[in-house]
Amino acid sequence: MSNDRIPIRGFSIAGVETSIEVPSLKLVLDMGRCSRTAVNQEFVVVSHGHLDHVGALAQHASRRAMMKMSVPTYLVPPVIAADVERLFDAAGTLDGHPIPRKIVAVEPGQTFALPGGRWIRPFTTFHRVASQGYSVWERRHRLRAEFEGTPGAELGNLKRRGVKVDDPYDVALMSFTGDTRVDVLERVPELQQTETLIMETSFLDARISVDDARAMGHTHLDEVMERRALLPRRDVVFSHVSARYVYAEIERIVSARLPDDLRGLVRMLV
Ligand SMILES: [Zn+2]
Ligand SMILES: [Zn+2]
Repeated sequence: MSNDRIPIRGFSIAGVETSIEVPSLKLVLDMGRCSRTAVNQEFVVVSHGHLDHVGALAQHASRRAMMKMSVPTYLVPPVIAADVERLFDAAGTLDGHPIPRKIVAVEPGQTFALPGGRWIRPFTTFHRVASQGYSVWERRHRLRAEFEGTPGAELGNLKRRGVKVDDPYDVALMSFTGDTRVDVLERVPELQQTETLIMETSFLDARISVDDARAMGHTHLDEVMERRALLPRRDVVFSHVSARYVYAEIERIVSARLPDDLRGLVRMLV
């Protein structure tokens, strides 16, 4: 397995703004701020209705319209879909013209097809308002054991004769938790297998207790460390750190707390 990590860029500061771009998937995870490059991405998933996650939705769609780009698609939890429509309507009234957008309500278990044969499927998360995370999936094929070592040309011949030489399997390329209590690690098994897990870790040390973090519907690094056996073994991105931590100390605190087996596996998005 290669350890090329899927490129991501963006911002995620608790209560301020979260907007994480995955350019290779034309995707943005939440839209608390619309950067110059986020506007290039056609698909946006929305984890929940807090303004640091949805504040720039209308701006994203309206800038795409201004630049004559295709109408963007927003995947949202069904319970907030009507409010998101109203947000766009109000923004369109303020701006003087309607804002073209496609809002798609998807719930956990349902899928939404992306270009290139991939698909997005939401999963349930545990915040203080209705919320969900998202995984992006793709189908791959692995050679059947009985054909291991068979030369490529021969495999080609077999395939042309209709012999099934491989079996399909589905891979979660990337999973994004949005805001949630740490319980998501236990309750959503796909997170242990995903190639890249982008998860919130709002609180990093004793400045906020685990109980307080849980009461706010957030995750404390203490809780993640207790469950580190549940983290996927390839690429973990900690994000959504509280604004009470200054930039310079975040890396220092996290790296001091990471056990050896997680070093090199974890990156920070702040
Ligand atoms: Zn948030
Ligand atoms: Zn929130």
